Amino acid sequence: MNTTFIAMAVAMLLGIGLLVGIGALSLLSGALNFLFVKPKIEILKSQFGETGFAFSFFWDQNAEPVRFDRLKIHLFNPFGTPAQLEITREFDGSENDFARDLDLGNFMKDIKNAKGLENATIEIEVASSKDSVTHLMTMKGSAFKEKLAKASVSALEVSEKLITPKEKPRFEIPERSFISPPLPRSAKALKLATNPEFAGQFAGAGAGAEAVAAVANFAVSKVWIEPGCIVCDACEGIFPEVFEVTDSTCLIRANAPLNDGLKILEAAEACPVEVIKFTKAS
Ligand code: SF4
Repeated sequence: MNTTFIAMAVAMLLGIGLLVGIGALSLLSGALNFLFVKPKIEILKSQFGETGFAFSFFWDQNAEPVRFDRLKIHLFNPFGTPAQLEITREFDGSENDFARDLDLGNFMKDIKNAKGLENATIEIEVASSKDSVTHLMTMKGSAFKEKLAKASVSALEVSEKLITPKEKPRFEIPERSFISPPLPRSAKALKLATNPEFAGQFAGAGAGAEAVAAVANFAVSKVWIEPGCIVCDACEGIFPEVFEVTDSTCLIRANAPLNDGLKILEAAEACPVEVIKFTKAS
């Protein structure tokens, strides 16, 4: 009694421990994801020159399945001129990593030529207007200037890379068919009455006395089907009074006539898997 109780208590404790462990791991993974898998805004080379601003944006679409379609740039320049500038621009959004090149007109010119830009602060915000999700990158004006100067890749080039088809999966899908493979070839000639090779053995009429003797009919005491029937219908086609082919096998009909041994022999010879067996009546 005590042993059962202790075993149950241990099992319960282990179960609770397992649940707590899984929960903790899940929280840890979420926290790591939050801390280290951060969205990334890269400054690119704009085709619009002085008035353009090109950028790419990469983020975890599984964690944030939203459409980003708004850009905001804010210059905070308390020791220079102008002291503050801000622009918000909507663009054709995307639900996947993307790159855009926007003509922001004189605003961009004013930022690039702002006095005291090196000591200013620049905020670049990419947002989803529909889902109220925002990502902000803040940097010193000097870093912004340096990134603009060093940008050598265009938004077009990044976009082309993003739409390049991904490598095909390396596993191979086997071809499947519902048509069964053909039966193995056999050198065996079917001993049928219709086969000219054996015509003499089946046709009593027209054959010589010797042939007639060779094909004298006989009675059968027992006929049966051994396992392995492939339900090809050959036997039933030859002697339907004796053989009945079902969906899965072949049966011997009740009260099947067993006096035509030659026909049963013909069916047995025609069976491609040789599962028709019989014994001659003595
Ligand atoms: S001939 Fe043979 S394999 Fe074909 S249905 Fe008859 S018993 Fe089965």
